[in-house]
Amino acid sequence: MEGLDSLDQWDDFVSGRYDPNRQTADFRKYDATAPDGVREFYRLNHTFQTREFVRDKKRRYGARITGEMGIWEALDYLNTLVDESDPDTDLSQIEHLLQTAEAIRRDGHPRWMVLAGLLHDLGKVLCLYGEPQWAVVGDTFPVGCAWSEKIVYPEYFRDNPDARVPEYQTRLGVYSEGCGLSNVDLSWGHDEYLYQVVKEYLPLEALYMIRYHSFYAAHREGQYDYLMDPQDRAMFEWVRKFNPYDLYSKSAARPSLAEVKPFYEELVAEYFPAKIAW
Ligand code: FE
Ligand code: FE
Repeated sequence: MEGLDSLDQWDDFVSGRYDPNRQTADFRKYDATAPDGVREFYRLNHTFQTREFVRDKKRRYGARITGEMGIWEALDYLNTLVDESDPDTDLSQIEHLLQTAEAIRRDGHPRWMVLAGLLHDLGKVLCLYGEPQWAVVGDTFPVGCAWSEKIVYPEYFRDNPDARVPEYQTRLGVYSEGCGLSNVDLSWGHDEYLYQVVKEYLPLEALYMIRYHSFYAAHREGQYDYLMDPQDRAMFEWVRKFNPYDLYSKSAARPSLAEVKPFYEELVAEYFPAKIAW
């Protein structure tokens, strides 16, 4: 078993970890009480996400030769990712996306932000391509420079081969001060993949939300500021604005897809052609 009972288990762990009403203020204590599967998932993620692995996946998936799919097709496809642990949530993937989007819409945010809510986890189709969980979900972090102690379970980097590459273990590693996140490789997963797929269609703010929504060490903990440029700092305001909708819209009312579909069909068509390359 690769760790998580379902991909959602990671999101649940993260929303518990950052819950403002949580009793234990100490992250380490909270992390220690996580289910074995969650810890095993992070152990694999931190062990195998090397700089070489990340660059390899970016080359392969950045070429976008997996196939052509429309946005709705991709949503339906993602929904075939059945959560075996919870027979009750056969619509769990699309439901989280709709709940996130609807919560953003309710608060009167711009249309592109509602669309970012609807799309932000579509990169999880990587799972259906056969990628392991640890290469699809999980908090993301830069590779090629020292790992922040604020990354969840930092002790699991012990067995990452990059730990033995001195060049990758300094504060800046292979990067330069203020080089900008677009020049930094983050651990591979659904965020970077979807960014690669939609980058020519959405405004920059929406792209930042999609690309960095799992980069908790930066948007929650304020780490890696020295790799950011002024644009990153300005755009991370939007990443932080987006995060509560991702984490805390789950318990909200279950939107009926049939009812809201006309609105979202129009919204998707406003930004996307009928098919895009994946
Ligand atoms: Fe996500
Ligand atoms: Fe999400």
